[in-house]
Amino acid sequence: MRLSLRCAAAMSVLALCAGALGADTPSVAAQELTRDYPGVGFYTSAERLTRIYGTPFGFGDSPEHVAEAFVREHADVFGVAAVDLAPYGPVADGRHTQPVMYERDTGEYKFTLVYFTQTSGGIPVFRAHLKLLVRNELAYPLVLTASSLRDLRGFTATVGVIDEEAGKDAALKLVPSLLNFTDGELVIWAGVDDMVVQPTLAVEFIGDNGKPATPDYEKWLFIADAVTGEILYTEDMILNEDVEGNVSGYATDGWGADICGPELLTPMPYTRVNIIGGNTAYADEFGDFVIPHGGSTEVTVESTLRGRWFRVYNQGGSNALLQLDVIPPGPANFEHNAGGAEYTTAEVNGYYHANVVRDLAIYHNPSYPGLQEAEFPVNVNHNDTCNAYYDYSSINFFRAGGGCANSGFSTVVHHEYGHHLVSMAGSGQGAYGEGMGDVMGVLISDDPHLAWGFYNDCNGFMRNADNNMQYPCSGEIHYCGMLLSGCVWSTRTELEATHPDDYRDIIANLAITPCCCTPVTGLTRASPSTS
Ligand SMILES: [Zn+2]
Repeated sequence: MRLSLRCAAAMSVLALCAGALGADTPSVAAQELTRDYPGVGFYTSAERLTRIYGTPFGFGDSPEHVAEAFVREHADVFGVAAVDLAPYGPVADGRHTQPVMYERDTGEYKFTLVYFTQTSGGIPVFRAHLKLLVRNELAYPLVLTASSLRDLRGFTATVGVIDEEAGKDAALKLVPSLLNFTDGELVIWAGVDDMVVQPTLAVEFIGDNGKPATPDYEKWLFIADAVTGEILYTEDMILNEDVEGNVSGYATDGWGADICGPELLTPMPYTRVNIIGGNTAYADEFGDFVIPHGGSTEVTVESTLRGRWFRVYNQGGSNALLQLDVIPPGPANFEHNAGGAEYTTAEVNGYYHANVVRDLAIYHNPSYPGLQEAEFPVNVNHNDTCNAYYDYSSINFFRAGGGCANSGFSTVVHHEYGHHLVSMAGSGQGAYGEGMGDVMGVLISDDPHLAWGFYNDCNGFMRNADNNMQYPCSGEIHYCGMLLSGCVWSTRTELEATHPDDYRDIIANLAITPCCCTPVTGLTRASPSTS
């Protein structure tokens, strides 16, 4: 790299050369601009002036004339001489002006954008441009400038012996698979964005490995020192892609046991997905996800029935795990329980309905206590039959057998999580807990019957909230709990008559209240008892 003698020694002492352009320093130039146009604003980023805005700060008889006059009189506000701003832009055809904001009814454009490109000694400065926005109206007011210009005061590019091959050799050392190189173009390298670098005469070129449209494709932009070949800047030209997709699962349709309905593809909300060796993300309520990713070659994405709020543990085998190989951005669309076997169906049903009941509680009381806990355990396929339970730290479901269906399904899941809602609100369990558990199922299904098909009869159910039970109740807690679910069902039915459009909302809002309840009976502990 050869510089003018006057400035060569001054590269690290730019002040020595300040003023070499014979112009004002940027701060003096800014004062002048403010004096001419009070109300003008300046925005700097990393000590570089990037925006001028505020009241209009230039007028003329055409957008080009306004912009050119501004450049002539005020370019030094950027530390750049007017002669170093060439009238072309970074757009494909290098045009000087671009109309913007088309108004269909008049066929006119509201603004004209005028471009300049910074040069030094006639050589373009890498990605250094000035854009001036002029309003297309009387006197063409200049309303905004956006600058990526670099302050090159003190630098003079002197073109001597250029060694383009040295740069390409250095690029090959960095990325040995490269096969093709474009011809190099001379540029002044002065950094991009907020980089602060010593300005350098450089060669810009692109290299690729000759494998377009394959996962192995590589394409890089290089800036190399024009004389030494040292690589000053690289940029991956294959735009990084996030990985998108969806997580769904075949869940039992309706409110019965798995044997009572088909399995339908259902979004698995809030599930965790991850790229092996990469990032992790969570799906939204529709099962849709975006995993932030920084590459474009094939990746393996994993999906489990583990999510923000619940984590399913299969006690009858390995946990649900799907893997997909995709090229970013995918999509990676997962379908759990495609085979529809009993244990995998219970995993999907357990995960899905635990989220359904928690979502309902959060919907009716976003401040409900204890529901921000992550990955609450849902244990399915325990080696037992005809039951389900809550133990204050998990909800638990049993395999099919002994005259019962697999208990990992809709209203049974709602019931067990209902115990957790009772517990989190500080209420006792007993018959109250059993009743509230059933109430959660009733609110979600809008059906008074609990656990259709539990005993392998799809026309049979376990309990019924449509009842005439009266206080006081004496008897077993699940039985007496029906007094509470019965009250809720009766109220719901009255509301249905008077508020046909929103009775479900009203009754759910009344029922899901972390408030003032104590057990209906003296029992305060939920034993692992039938649902
Ligand atoms: Zn229970």
